[in-house]
Amino acid sequence: MLLKEIKTIFHKELDTIYSNGEVSSFFHLLIEEFLGLERFILAFQPNYVISKEDEQPLFEALSQLRLQRPIQYIIGKTCFMDLDFMVSEGVLIPRPETEELVQWVLEGKDENEERNILDIGTGSGCIAISLAKNMKNARVHALDVSEEALAIARKNAKINKVAVSFIQGDILTLDSLGLKFDLIVSNPPYVRESEKSVMQKNVLEHEPDSALFVPDETPLVFYEAIVAFAQRNLSEKGELFLEINQNLGKETSQLLETYNFLEIELRKDIFGNDRMLKGIVSR
Ligand code: GLN
Repeated sequence: MLLKEIKTIFHKELDTIYSNGEVSSFFHLLIEEFLGLERFILAFQPNYVISKEDEQPLFEALSQLRLQRPIQYIIGKTCFMDLDFMVSEGVLIPRPETEELVQWVLEGKDENEERNILDIGTGSGCIAISLAKNMKNARVHALDVSEEALAIARKNAKINKVAVSFIQGDILTLDSLGLKFDLIVSNPPYVRESEKSVMQKNVLEHEPDSALFVPDETPLVFYEAIVAFAQRNLSEKGELFLEINQNLGKETSQLLETYNFLEIELRKDIFGNDRMLKGIVSR
């Protein structure tokens, strides 16, 4: 079949679910990933022919896109802080808001500083690995309750050639890791069950619930555990950085106040939502 005919089928089947531009960019990504073809091929060779064998993965991807499986899971990878990360259904797909959190952590820091860092609920490892990459002398530790996530995060550390110490553990019951940290960062689950109604099908049906949702009655359950842990395990003047639920900025800031954190700062993300919080420990 001609490549342009396959593209027409993609638009015919998918333009009712996604925008025309999105479908084109999925198609270009897929031909690049699966067939090694560059996106301008149709402009230069309008009658480029695809063999039966090469059609197969494209049509398989088409049927998955129809079910709104995220493109990142279909091709098995994504980009975060200009680094490549492999992703599968066991981990959340890294978000641009989380890149903003990492940029905030890096703000004003010397890349040679020696620091003990902990990322709580690391998932794909995107925060821990991009910090390790940008702070050459940091000792980065990353915790997750899910062995499946840790296996992916370990692969991502290898792909990006950084050393991160991965630890399996549950922050809800963890007392200490036997060392003090200069910086703790976390993007824990924070979407309330009642907020599911405003979420997209691709997130709801394909990304891991355990990385996303919290009960309506206890929306800060992870933050309570993380802030208490940070209070006990940060070194003097240690910093805590959190990604937060946009509707709970005030409540989450108050939690940091309750635990005597100082210089508490709430920041908005690129979409103008309250999304990040920082505080300095004091005892
Ligand atoms: N920002 C993510 C979303 O809206 C949620 C991430 C999280 O729960 N930590 O899909």
